[in-house]
Amino acid sequence: MKTPRSDTDTLEDEEPLLQDACLVDGEWRGADDGRTFAVTDPATGEVIASVPLMSTGETEAAIRAAEAALPAWSARTAKERAAVLSRWAALLLEHRERLARILTREQGKPLAEARGEIAYTASFLTFFAAEAERVRGEVIPASTRESRIVVLRQPIGVVGCVTPWNFPAAMITRKAAPALAAGCTAVVKPAEQTPLSALAIAELGRQAGIPPGVLNVITGDAPSIGRALCESPAVRLLSFTGSTEVGRLLAAQCAPTVKKLSLELGGNAPFLVFPDADPEAAVEAAVLSKFRHSGQTCVCTNRFLVHDDLYPEFTERFAERVGRLTVGSGDEPGVDVGPLIDADGLAKAADHVADAVAQGAEVMVGGGPHRAGGTFFEPTVLRGVTPAMRVMREETFGPVAAVASFHTEREAVDLANDSRSGLAAYVFTRDLARAWRVTEALEVGMVGLNTGFLSVETAPFGGVKESGLGREGSHHGIEEFLELKFWHIGGLSSPGAAATS
Ligand code: NAP
Repeated sequence: MKTPRSDTDTLEDEEPLLQDACLVDGEWRGADDGRTFAVTDPATGEVIASVPLMSTGETEAAIRAAEAALPAWSARTAKERAAVLSRWAALLLEHRERLARILTREQGKPLAEARGEIAYTASFLTFFAAEAERVRGEVIPASTRESRIVVLRQPIGVVGCVTPWNFPAAMITRKAAPALAAGCTAVVKPAEQTPLSALAIAELGRQAGIPPGVLNVITGDAPSIGRALCESPAVRLLSFTGSTEVGRLLAAQCAPTVKKLSLELGGNAPFLVFPDADPEAAVEAAVLSKFRHSGQTCVCTNRFLVHDDLYPEFTERFAERVGRLTVGSGDEPGVDVGPLIDADGLAKAADHVADAVAQGAEVMVGGGPHRAGGTFFEPTVLRGVTPAMRVMREETFGPVAAVASFHTEREAVDLANDSRSGLAAYVFTRDLARAWRVTEALEVGMVGLNTGFLSVETAPFGGVKESGLGREGSHHGIEEFLELKFWHIGGLSSPGAAATS
C-alpha cells in the first residue's frame, strides 16, 4: 500500500499557479456542463486537484478564439512577439521551484529531474524568441529579365497541440513557443494525468502579456477534443506528441481537411556498445538513458546491444550500478527512480519481464514491483535477451533494461534497424570511421555518440519510420509552423532599361 502524505505536505505554496479552470480567449473557465475530473499523485494515489472535463463545444470555442486572435498576433512584429516569449521564459524561471513541485506531484519524476524539465521548458521560449526574428524570405533568380521570384514565409494559422504526460511542461513550450514565434495562435490539450503544469504555464504566459485567444489550453475528453481539432478547417496544423497508435488515428482524422501534421511518436531506441568502447562511460550513459524518468521517455533506450567481447563485463557493471539506484517518491531527497505513471505502466513492465524470463532471459537485478507498492517498479536488468522477446520489440516505457549481444558491426546495425520505430539510437565506440558508418546506417532521427543524452532545444528532435513526421526544436522546428508563399513578379523592365529610357 502506498503511504499518504502528511497534511502539511500539500501544494499550498504552489497555489498562486494552480488552476482548476481552463484558459479560453484569455478567460479562466470551467466546462459548459460544469463537469471535472481528478488529477492524482502517482506516488500515493491521492487526488491533488480537479480540472474541467471539456469536450467538443469548448474546443470549438477555443478554436474560434484562436482564429479571432490570429490577424492581430501575426501582424505584430517579430520583435514584439519575441518580447512576450522572453518575458514568459523569465516568469517560468522565476517560478521554477513552484512549477517543479507541481510537475513532480502530478507526474512522479524526481524533483531534480522536474527542475531540469522547467529549465528545458523555458529554453524553448528563449530559443524561439530569438528565432522569431530569423524567419526570412528568399529571392530566387528568375527565368526572364522582366520578372522576379520572391518567397515569403508566413504563419500557417491556428494550430492544435496535443501533448503527453511524460514531459508535462516541456512539451507545451516545445510546440507553443515556435507557434507563437511564427505568428500562429494555438489550442493546446495536455494529457489527462498531467494538466496542472500546462495550466500553470499558461497562467504565466497570460502574465507575460500573451493576448486573449493567442494561447488556449483545454483539458478533458481526449477523443472529442482531438476530433474537433482534427476536423476543424480553421486548424491548419496538428502538432501531436504521444503514442504511435494515437498519432496514426489523428493522422487519419486530419486527412479530410488536408491538415499539416507534426507527429512526435513512440520509439524503441537501440544502444550499441562496440568492443572499443569505454565500458565505464557506456555504463553511466546506459543508466542515464534507461532509468531517467523511470524509463518513461520516448528516447529511453529500449534495447541494449553489446558486442560479445564486452558483454560479460558490461552486464556485470551495469547490474551492479542499477542495483544502487534509489527508488521512492519524487520529492524525497536522493531519489533516482520515481513511480510509474499508472497501473497500466506497471503491468506492462511486469509483462515484459515475465515474457523475457519465460523465453530464457535472466534477471540480474530487480525484476518486479517494488516493495514501496503502488506503481513503483524495481530498476531491472535482464541478460540473455533475444530479439523475439516483447521487451525488445515493444516500447517498455518502464525501468527495465534488456541486454542482448552481437558479433559483428553488420549484425548490430541490422538488429538496431529491425524495428518499425526510428526515433533515437545511442552508439558507443572510439573508432571514428565506425562511428560515421554506423550513424549513417541507423534508421533513426537522432543518434547519441558516446552519450546517453539527446534532448536540447537547439537540435532538431524527431524520428523516422513510425516514430513520426517533422522536427521540433532548433531553427528547423519553426518551419513546421510556417507556410511558403511564392510570389512571381512580372512586368518589370529589364536591367538597363532605366538607363536607356
Ligand atoms: P498517448 O496515449 O498517445 O497520449 C498522448 C496525448 O494524446 C494525450 O494528451 C492524450 O490525452 C491524447 N489522446 C489520447 N487519445 C486521443 C484521441 N483519441 N484523440 C486525441 N487525443 C488523444 O501517449 P502517452 O501515453 O501520453 O505518452 C507516451 C507516448 O508518447 C510514448 O509512446 C512515447 O514514446 C511518446 N512520446 C514521444 C515523444 C517524441 O518526441 N517523439 C515525446 C514524449 C513522448 P489523454 O491523456 O487525455 O488520454
